[in-house]
Amino acid sequence: MKWSGINWKDVLTPRGLLSIVEGCTEAIKQKAGIENEFVKSAMQYRLDFICAHCDLNTDGQCDPTKTGTVVQDFTYHRSIERKQGELVNGCGCALKCKTANVKEECPLGKWLSAEN
Ligand code: SF4
Repeated sequence: MKWSGINWKDVLTPRGLLSIVEGCTEAIKQKAGIENEFVKSAMQYRLDFICAHCDLNTDGQCDPTKTGTVVQDFTYHRSIERKQGELVNGCGCALKCKTANVKEECPLGKWLSAEN
């Protein structure tokens, strides 16, 4: 997993840390067979149909050293305005954890939070 290029300012916030804990807890529950069908469906759709075919996916990490094009206008993590066509880096997250958190979203807007 690559750590260079990660925007630690976004990660090391109460919301960022809580998001990691929530996502990894859900991913572990899925692995253990304690399944929430909504979380399972969201995770599978995000992981298998979108992230699996994304150039920023490097061995299961949203690669912070790679750049991709934002696909739609949206507010990333409720505070960062992203515009279609803008170039941004991957977030550095482990995709199994990130996709298991229904409140998370793709930094390129390819999939959004269930709260949106
Ligand atoms: S979260 Fe978005 S940018 Fe990252 S690998 Fe998945 S689809 Fe690509």
